[in-house]
Amino acid sequence: MTKGFGSEVVALAQRLGCDAIGENYAQEVQSKIAEVGTHHPPVHFIGRLQSNKIRSLAGVVAVWQSIDRASLVDELAKRVPGARMFVQVNATDEVDKGGCRSEDVASLVRRARDQGLLVEGVMAVGPTSGDPVATRRAFASVRRMADDLGLEGCSMGMSGDIDIALEEGTTLVRVGTALFGERPSVSRNPEVI
Ligand SMILES: *Cc1c(COP(=O)(O)O)cnc(C)c1O
Repeated sequence: MTKGFGSEVVALAQRLGCDAIGENYAQEVQSKIAEVGTHHPPVHFIGRLQSNKIRSLAGVVAVWQSIDRASLVDELAKRVPGARMFVQVNATDEVDKGGCRSEDVASLVRRARDQGLLVEGVMAVGPTSGDPVATRRAFASVRRMADDLGLEGCSMGMSGDIDIALEEGTTLVRVGTALFGERPSVSRNPEVI
């Protein structure tokens, strides 16, 4: 996850051989990628997404990891036919957290597939509390959802809960702080919290 860092960290991720970079903010990723040029790992967009941003991000984003409602599925299918995506689920039912309800994952996956999108898996963020028991329970439930839908991919696990995520069968981990240190640019980007 290179969000909050400058383009030099994207270049570093490229040299380190990272499979992908994760970015959360539409404007930040666009200006950063414009600075880096063509040599960078594929960009995964993992953040709150408004439908009207999809069109402008289409040339930059390789994988859309935070698709969590029907309107986003529809807009993505329209603007980026055949796009690679994950359905984001709010596996812990926390208020103010992105992701659809667990019971809505199947219908979103179906809707996306019906429109020709390539659904690669389910994405989730662990509980904000960081409690290891709740984290394991959430990740196990996400893995089960993916399996039930015939999806190979699971995107779960960040610096603080990567071990539990790996034990519970994640296929993608999203690591920021543990690789690159504390994110520096809170003031540069007021959206970063
Ligand atoms: C920032 C972020 C991460 C990375 O978090 P670290 O704790 O720095 O590893 C992972 N996933 C999402 C959705 C994020 O926003």
